[in-house]
Amino acid sequence: MLLDGKAISKTRQTAVKDTVQSLPDAPHLVVVLTTDNPASQSYVKAKEKAAQHVGFKSTLIHDTTLDETRLLQLIDTLNQDPGVHGILVQLPLAKGLNVERVMRAIDPAKDVDGFHPENVAALFQKRPGFVPATPRGILTLLDAYEIEIESKHVVIIGRSQIVGTPLVHLFLHRNATVTVCHSKTEDLKSYTLSADILVVATGRARMITADYIRPGAVVVDVGINRVDGKLVGDVDFEAASKVASYITPVPKGVGPMTISSLLENTLDAYTRQRSQS
Ligand code: NAD
Repeated sequence: MLLDGKAISKTRQTAVKDTVQSLPDAPHLVVVLTTDNPASQSYVKAKEKAAQHVGFKSTLIHDTTLDETRLLQLIDTLNQDPGVHGILVQLPLAKGLNVERVMRAIDPAKDVDGFHPENVAALFQKRPGFVPATPRGILTLLDAYEIEIESKHVVIIGRSQIVGTPLVHLFLHRNATVTVCHSKTEDLKSYTLSADILVVATGRARMITADYIRPGAVVVDVGINRVDGKLVGDVDFEAASKVASYITPVPKGVGPMTISSLLENTLDAYTRQRSQS
């Protein structure tokens, strides 16, 4: 069965839109883009479009000439502005900009990407904070299909700070048993074949073939790879879908869930800031 991220994302976006209509003013998301990277430009465009669709105010600051001092000044201005509720600085940053310093500069209360050390620690310690959009979207998608997580063996391939590592915490918080595999893991199959839920986030096109998947497992494919002009995941969908009980397609799987989760994070940021002002 397909885990239809596009459909679930649409439902979640409609819920955000309905909430926004009852608010006294619109949540405001500011996206800062420091490169001309075509993939980043297309992600940013999708985020802007979705933000406008749900009734947010959305501002894109696309400036490839920013040095670190000016970028930090810009973030400071956005931090101080009560009319800005969410700040997202699209990664990867332009050459010469230090990602740790830039992420640390964002007010944690406006950090809708969840990359500020305060939000990373909050997730680690199971405190309220902002969870990165892709991991949040994956859990939302599994929940929408009522897929059981507690006591299941979740195998995550990939340990990035954007996807794999936050997912470890989210699944642990839900009482799963979690195994993390990565590029130095030996005999990958020996782990994946015991997974009830297999999450693949490697950036290696179609690397997970049907023989890595336990029959009946749930497969979540996070990968976005362009092969011969076509978008494909990290899982060989054709073959894997014959073995898995549930599987996400690429596109229309995790990608749209990332977008709706970013909107939910921004709405949460707005609500928390409002309740404190
Ligand atoms: P990354 O490059 O930061 O991390 C990749 C991880 O995969 C690393 O931890 C590495 O150890 C592991 N890995 C690489 N090759 C491996 C192998 N042969 N065997 C086992 N592990 C291996 O990537 P990322 O930022 O986590 O993104 C992963 C993929 O997900 C990419 O295709 C990216 O485009 C995609 N992505 C999609 C979304 C979305 O919204 N759908 C969001 C973020 C990232």
